[in-house]
Amino acid sequence: MALPKINSNLTYDTTVPSTKEKIKYRPFLVGEEKLFLIATQSDSPRVLYDTVKRVVSQCVLTENFDVDTLTEFDLEYIFILLRSKSVGEKEDLLISCESCEERNTVTIDFEKSAYIKNLNQQLDNRIDFGRGISVTLKGFDASKALDLAESEMSEVDQVFHVIDSMIDKVYTEEEVMVFADESYDERYAFIDSMTAVQLQKIQKYIQSLPKVAMDISFVCGNCRTHNKRVLEGISSFFT
Ligand SMILES: [Zn+2]
Repeated sequence: MALPKINSNLTYDTTVPSTKEKIKYRPFLVGEEKLFLIATQSDSPRVLYDTVKRVVSQCVLTENFDVDTLTEFDLEYIFILLRSKSVGEKEDLLISCESCEERNTVTIDFEKSAYIKNLNQQLDNRIDFGRGISVTLKGFDASKALDLAESEMSEVDQVFHVIDSMIDKVYTEEEVMVFADESYDERYAFIDSMTAVQLQKIQKYIQSLPKVAMDISFVCGNCRTHNKRVLEGISSFFT
């Protein structure tokens, strides 16, 4: 006799934060939680990202849903929702006190606490460099960022590669150039010749990009310091 399929018809609705598209999903199952735990213990941002992507594509039931079209923050937000439906909305996290570093158990309602920071506050993607030159920036490529994080590259080289992947077009008074069409040497020289102020404008834009966040506040059981902090990105929620 075949065992019954439990939980096969539990479904929920939500919307994709960036597009407001309605989707239907089922909760995360024990097998998926196992995959996720292994991924968080791997210490590899790439493994964690791939696991989150795989689980979301398995749990979203909407026809023609394509996980590859989601932004990184959409993906992480949907993941948190479908996971909290399964493991329970309230969960204990161990968070270090900013004053004495004692690890405190903090109970968090993920479904209620997780939100998209900067969702409608993204800065203008056109950056004025002065002297008639400006650039437009495109979104951050999560997959490329993960490759960089796992590479042995120095921080300076990583910054170069992030900026290189984000510049979309370069405008002068006479022409518009697609940055990626230029040679590596040309691009390198262009980025290398930026002033600190121009670089800061790009960094400010990067900081303004939407991301999944949670506001955490607790009083440390050891030193009584009132900790208040914003966790950003799911890797900071689960490690
Ligand atoms: Zn403390």
